Amino acid sequence: MEDVVIAGAGPNGLMLACELALAGIRPLVLERLPEPTEENRANGLVGQVVRLLDRRGLHDRLAGPIGPPAPAFVFGAMRLDLTLPERNSLHILGVPQRRVAAMLADRAAELGVEIRRGHEVTGLVQDADAVTLDLTGPDGPGRLTTRYVVGADGGRSITRKLAGIGFPGVTEDRTLSLTANATVPAEFVDPASGGLKVPGHGVIPPFFHYRTETGLFVYAPFPTGPLVTTVEWTDAEEPADEPAMTLEDQRASIERVLGFALPIGPPEGDGPHLLRRLRGRNTRLADRFRDGRVLLVGDAAHVHSAIGGPGLNLGLQDAVGLGWKLAAELHGWAPAGLLDTYESERRPVAERVVMHTQAQSALIAPGRDVTALRELFGELLRLPSTVQHVADLMSGADVRYEPGTDHPLDGRWAPDLVLADGTRLAELTRTARPLLLDFTGSLGEELRGWTERVDLVSGQAEVDATALLIRPDGYVAWASGSAEPDDAERKALRAALERWFGAAVDM
Ligand SMILES: Cc1cc2nc3c(=O)[nH]c(=O)nc-3n(C[C@H](O)[C@H](O)[C@H](O)COP(=O)(O)OP(=O)(O)OC[C@H]3O[C@@H](n4cnc5c(N)ncnc54)[C@H](O)[C@@H]3O)c2cc1C
Repeated sequence: MEDVVIAGAGPNGLMLACELALAGIRPLVLERLPEPTEENRANGLVGQVVRLLDRRGLHDRLAGPIGPPAPAFVFGAMRLDLTLPERNSLHILGVPQRRVAAMLADRAAELGVEIRRGHEVTGLVQDADAVTLDLTGPDGPGRLTTRYVVGADGGRSITRKLAGIGFPGVTEDRTLSLTANATVPAEFVDPASGGLKVPGHGVIPPFFHYRTETGLFVYAPFPTGPLVTTVEWTDAEEPADEPAMTLEDQRASIERVLGFALPIGPPEGDGPHLLRRLRGRNTRLADRFRDGRVLLVGDAAHVHSAIGGPGLNLGLQDAVGLGWKLAAELHGWAPAGLLDTYESERRPVAERVVMHTQAQSALIAPGRDVTALRELFGELLRLPSTVQHVADLMSGADVRYEPGTDHPLDGRWAPDLVLADGTRLAELTRTARPLLLDFTGSLGEELRGWTERVDLVSGQAEVDATALLIRPDGYVAWASGSAEPDDAERKALRAALERWFGAAVDM
């Protein structure tokens, strides 16, 4: 019997596979496609996920050392000036999704994970002890049993459907979004900003979401070639047998949105080149992330508009939130209820993403009332505190899991601290082991009974705490600000160790 089968080798399934393998569990990944998909969805990662990749040593593999946070971003097609707030934790990493998935597949293979491509999950039955899966693969139908199955099989997740987990939400069918790789004549490119000079609109900055009364326009000059996107609102029915999208469709849409016929041309280079037409938008959230031995991560658990690019920030952090808890369950030391905290922690985060993508979609819609709302929202976005709030929402820095103490860092994602010897926290977390950072030099004794599961790190660091217990997913499970933690704090530390890492082992 398998320990864990992951249905789907998209980015979130692969990230979960890596996390389980780091925690000593070898999952089997089943992927229905025989080869990695050429389809490109995400053009970048936005938010805490960028720092998370750094904390697993994966940022280096994609783009070298992590850089500073972004100086600006967009929210609902309005500029977020990230130099205004006191804290800025909004990192952006511009890499295509297929490169993220390829990197994670390589990492999973390095860690000994088997990815069986060309195998589709078609049936699922669970009882108290196991899940039986029906499959179809290159050699025909098959069946296997596993202690747990994780549906990482995307928005149309068969795992979710077979487990009987509802996916309530809304399907909105008025939006029409076209995206194309295209060239723009040099006379329209603004050399100073890299944006576009469009008659009647001044300079439209690069990568900016530019709203007009009839739609949205984005010009994204990626190093691999410019990408042009439009979003329009239409009451027209989807034509039956609609022909494949052409560059002419994109040109016509730009003209409707900007009121100007921007003479875009065919893309340069060998491609693959994108010509994508998307109709409508789904916003749905699984009503449970777990049903017995079946769990969901990523798009299988939640779908929403791609506006602002929050999908992988949410999904990859689901995977990291689930991996260590599921591994603990399989190793047999998980405290009661640990696996259920996956849902109680991650579903509210998904609810917030659903909320802000819907809010952004409302802010880009056509209409004078929306224009008025934008004027007001634009005024609010000149206030540093509002920008702080929105940036924290988009990065995930506002997430606080249930704390066990009243220390302000308890329940938060651990800050990017650097030890006095120059070691970054991100270097200490690559093994995904729980850590007790003890800057008091006095807490080692409290770890007795947990040393097989939790590593002790001593030293000094500039951070608003004297000790931090950090979970494998980067969240702080206990914190102290005392130079010499007293008995009550020590007791709270032992309670946190037990709450997250199980009962102490007699040594
Ligand atoms: C146009 C667009 C633009 C986007 N832009 C961004 C962006 O800029 N930034 C961002 O962070 N996010 C973006 N997203 C969202 C992001 O692409 C998704 O959140 C992401 O793909 C989810 O990954 P996943 O692994 O959960 O699912 P998927 O990527 O959908 O992977 C699921 C995998 O499961 C496999 N599978 C399905 N059924 C079965 C089965 N029965 N058995 C076995 N395997 C199966 C599929 O073949 C697939 O490989 C965008 C999405 C879209 C549509």
